[in-house]
Amino acid sequence: MALSVALLSAQSGARSGIHPEDMDTTCKACTDFWRYVNGGWLQKNPIPADKASWGTFGVLRDADRERIRTILEASESDTGVKAASDRRKIGDLYASCMDTATIDARGVIPLQADFDRIAAIQSLQDLNAVLVGFQMTPRPAMSGLGSAVVGVFRLDAVQDRKRPERMIAGISAGSSIFSLPDRDYYFRDDEKSKEIRAAFLEHAAKLLELAGTPSAAAQNQAKAVLSFETAVAESVMTIADRRDPEKTYHPMDLAGLRTLAPNFDWALLLHEAGLPESTPVNVSEPELLKKLNEELTGTPLGTWKVWLRWRTLQIAAPSLGKAFDAEAFHFNGAVLSGAKEQTARWETCANVVDRDLGDALGKAYVEKYFPAQAKRRMSVLVENLRAAMREELQQSTWMQPETKRNAIQKLNALEVQIGYPDRWEGYTSVPIDRKTYFENVRAAWSFAQHYDLAKVGKPVDKTDWTMTPPTVNAYSSFAEVKVVFPAGILQPPYFDMKADDAANYGAIGAVIGHEMGHQFDDGGSKYDAKGAMNNWWTAADRREFDKRTACVVEQFNTLDVGDGLHHNGKQVLGEALGDLGGISVAYKAYRKSLGGKKGPVLDGFTADQRFFIAYARVWGTQYRAEAMRLQLNTNAHPLDQYRAIATLQNMPEFQKAFQCRPEDAMTRPAAQQCALW
Ligand SMILES: [Zn+2]
Repeated sequence: MALSVALLSAQSGARSGIHPEDMDTTCKACTDFWRYVNGGWLQKNPIPADKASWGTFGVLRDADRERIRTILEASESDTGVKAASDRRKIGDLYASCMDTATIDARGVIPLQADFDRIAAIQSLQDLNAVLVGFQMTPRPAMSGLGSAVVGVFRLDAVQDRKRPERMIAGISAGSSIFSLPDRDYYFRDDEKSKEIRAAFLEHAAKLLELAGTPSAAAQNQAKAVLSFETAVAESVMTIADRRDPEKTYHPMDLAGLRTLAPNFDWALLLHEAGLPESTPVNVSEPELLKKLNEELTGTPLGTWKVWLRWRTLQIAAPSLGKAFDAEAFHFNGAVLSGAKEQTARWETCANVVDRDLGDALGKAYVEKYFPAQAKRRMSVLVENLRAAMREELQQSTWMQPETKRNAIQKLNALEVQIGYPDRWEGYTSVPIDRKTYFENVRAAWSFAQHYDLAKVGKPVDKTDWTMTPPTVNAYSSFAEVKVVFPAGILQPPYFDMKADDAANYGAIGAVIGHEMGHQFDDGGSKYDAKGAMNNWWTAADRREFDKRTACVVEQFNTLDVGDGLHHNGKQVLGEALGDLGGISVAYKAYRKSLGGKKGPVLDGFTADQRFFIAYARVWGTQYRAEAMRLQLNTNAHPLDQYRAIATLQNMPEFQKAFQCRPEDAMTRPAAQQCALW
């Protein structure tokens, strides 16, 4: 049967892996476990001026950026490296980003060609051609800045959800098409939302002025932008709906696209994207394409031109000179997230290289910072979690044998990738020049888009990652049936090779369990062992599963997070289920690893206590008020604090470890405790 290996360290003499000095034991564990574990640290570490939130995750991420900086500064000054090599390219991109004098001197010149093309639009045909052109250079996401495209949708390569072995084209919206963070920002009528829209009008007018538009015209244009986007936003799905793979699956052919939006030149789009007209396309939001169709002829060309010029400017602003970059920060960083100061230039540039030449940097990063040993130990840990989850599914009291069999088959099929991808992307064809920062970035965006679209029509390549190796995060892909743990997250306090097992199971173990759990969350559970969207549940089991997940929706809907604010339970459901399933399976795996023995008492805490302390430590992040609102409104992840509190409120093993009573805040009444399996 399943292995039980003492895996990470010799148990004797290992450090505890927890930090009693960072705890606040004046707060009772059973009253607020998050504060009990993190209170001391939070007291000593106020949020830095350039951050919107600060805690465990941020500290690790900052340390990680310092490592990247070391690599980039060495690459930048090492001019002996071959011209077309990856090393040279990351050094040159970094150097061009750091050369703010040249960037400032060029002002808005890098956008002139785009502005000219937009200004020359005289017909629907011209408008189509410009919209198609912008699809080839979407901006990828980077810390604090989402992905963005100039247009009303974005085109990508996606797996066909019913036939996951093949890649097709996908048309979606997400938040990429908006100037504000998401659709609801255009409609909410509370005071905060009104303030944000007013701040947006000022911001847009200011940026437009910086680009040469006279003041009065800039103010009118800002209003036109807001009203155009408000009209489009009405036809865009909510975040909660976008998370449902069934609601966003509408495969069609060119004729189908033409029926939805005859005014758009779909043939031109496919041609420019290098795709044959026979390519199947999944349209996530058909209503949006109908809206696009209306607007193409219903909105005057003059308004379209204003909007296109604005979006070009807005998306480019963080890559332009100081005045533009500072204004972009003012809105995205200060107004929306509450940060007080801009990130140091070197850090921004490190983020840009990670975003735009991720594999070249990642390769250098893992060579220098990721020991092969870490990959081996992590593999053992993952397999122990998988074994514990298999038992958990087998022992479920409510699932029928047929559903159990299918669930276990899926769990067995799950592929695990650790540290870095098996194949590295090369950047030979991306031109990088030390004097042209903006063009470098654009070339990288264009490269990434062409690379992505070239996958259409081909079999799925599971060696492709959507996170770079230095990323402090992990992800789960439903259609690829895989979980990925980049090297960046395999460091303390998540993963500490020198620490006792309890802390490692509580921290990285819960992260592994979380990613595995996603495969069985409200979305993941709709995909089978092959990654196809295919119902493998009996009707009765699905009903029971939905009842159990509704418990978590209700928990987050009703949880008061201060200022009268709440989570949207449906929006955060997948993440909350990942957390709940993850901590539960990590705990079982830890107990199995002890093989019936009792774990040691270290630093005055039992093994079970340390397991839960390590878990809550991972979520030791506090937010500025603005960042908290932004997260509640736009993020599928609950606030970190409640990832610890709400999850543990459902864990009898936690309540036992700290002897919490039924009336304590950290104990949900027995009848309301949520459990999955
Ligand atoms: Zn997750």
